[in-house]
Amino acid sequence: MAVPQNKISKSRRNNRRAHDALVAGNPNECPNCGELKRPHHVCAACGHYDDREVVAMVDEVDLDEEDAA
Ligand SMILES: [Zn+2]
Repeated sequence: MAVPQNKISKSRRNNRRAHDALVAGNPNECPNCGELKRPHHVCAACGHYDDREVVAMVDEVDLDEEDAA
C-alpha cells in the first residue's frame, strides 16, 4: 500500500482546500415559461430553447401502466 512519505502540514492541507469551495449556479429565467433554467441549456420544465420547442414534453407519465409485461 502506498504511504505518504511526508506529513502534509495543516497549512499546506488548508492551502490546497482553499480552492475547494462550491459555487452557486447562475440560473436564468426561461423566456417561454418563466421557470429557472441553466444558461445555454434546454428548459427542463417546457423543453424550449431559443424560443422554440426542441424537446417534446409529456403531460403525465402513468407508472402503473403494465404495458411493459
Ligand atoms: Zn421553460
